[in-house]
Amino acid sequence: MAMGSVIKVHCLYDTPFWRDMGLSGQATSDTGPVGTTFDNSPASGAPGVLVGFIEGDEARRWARGTPRERYAAVVADLARYFGAAAAAPRAYSEQTWAEEEYTRGGYAGYMPPGGWMAYGAELRAPVGRIHWAGTETATVWNGYMDGAVSSGERAAMEVRATLGAPAASPRCRGTQPLAASGYGAVETADSAIGIGDGLSRVDGAREMIGG
Ligand SMILES: Cc1cc2nc3c(=O)[nH]c(=O)nc-3n(C[C@H](O)[C@H](O)[C@H](O)COP(=O)(O)OP(=O)(O)OC[C@H]3O[C@@H](n4cnc5c(N)ncnc54)[C@H](O)[C@@H]3O)c2cc1C
Repeated sequence: MAMGSVIKVHCLYDTPFWRDMGLSGQATSDTGPVGTTFDNSPASGAPGVLVGFIEGDEARRWARGTPRERYAAVVADLARYFGAAAAAPRAYSEQTWAEEEYTRGGYAGYMPPGGWMAYGAELRAPVGRIHWAGTETATVWNGYMDGAVSSGERAAMEVRATLGAPAASPRCRGTQPLAASGYGAVETADSAIGIGDGLSRVDGAREMIGG
């Protein structure tokens, strides 16, 4: 299974101004590089943060561009969704996950055409004493943190059953979907671009990133 392609971007504003217009900050579009956005502002409500995802063919195409070209395309899309104020973020960060040496893409491994039909049934089948966990084996939230957790619980249940262990505790219920999708965590961006006169690059900056 190969990894998908995704570029994740964040635009930071003084306030989540879109809320004043009655907008959620969530957009979905089949045109333009930024196909999905969310309001990723902290609970305090300041600063305002919009997170956007450039995925699939768009990610592969825009990965070949320069940071300045990507920035221009991203803010143009955000302005289309949320008005002119979105075109002037105070800070911008981006992460091209396919360029991460040990990640090679995101969000998870995917089946090429025909893969599910030919091999799907084998994804979770134990092989002797080996039991399989991992988000790719999940039946709910496949490809996300929730899927990773639920698949681990399911594999643990399989092992318990094999060992003849007593019924699982309430914390270990198999493939129940978990509440959140994982957006909103904090991690370190490899690169961030300060938006000012010179569009300067700030390496190793710590920014609010969703995952
Ligand atoms: C760029 C990117 C962004 C994402 N964003 C989000 C998001 O916003 N929200 C969300 O919910 N999900 C997100 N995901 C998906 C989420 O990160 C994964 O679904 C989840 O981490 C998968 O967990 P896992 O335990 O299945 O596998 P992994 O986290 O990959 O864990 C597998 C572990 O096994 C180890 N390992 C591999 N081979 C061996 C070996 N032979 N021996 C010992 N150890 C080994 C690896 O080093 C690794 O630590 C994102 C993923 C990526 C790549």
